[in-house]
Amino acid sequence: MSLHCPRCNSPKVASFHQAMKVGAAIGTVGGVARGVSAALAGGQAGALVGTIAGPFGITLGYVSGAILGGLAGGVGGCALGAQLGDTLDRHVLAHNLCLLCGHRFNLPA
Ligand SMILES: [Zn+2]
Repeated sequence: MSLHCPRCNSPKVASFHQAMKVGAAIGTVGGVARGVSAALAGGQAGALVGTIAGPFGITLGYVSGAILGGLAGGVGGCALGAQLGDTLDRHVLAHNLCLLCGHRFNLPA
């Protein structure tokens, strides 16, 4: 995809993606927080299942439930945040800069 400046039609345009990075960071933090609570719930569910298999089963169930819950929450949150940031980037923030005339502009919605 090549961008052109809407003012002077120059193809020399620089793009910035601050919002996407911020969104991904926020999403990761939110996702990890969600993952931690999911991990606790997963661990409890795992421990419940493990109770049937005895003391070793409790530990194994708790650990695997916690790891799976944490990973799923973190990855999901990061993807969601990046998507949100990308939408902000495209439609809200002026993040394209023409290197010829200095005009800042958004992508067409
Ligand atoms: Zn221009």
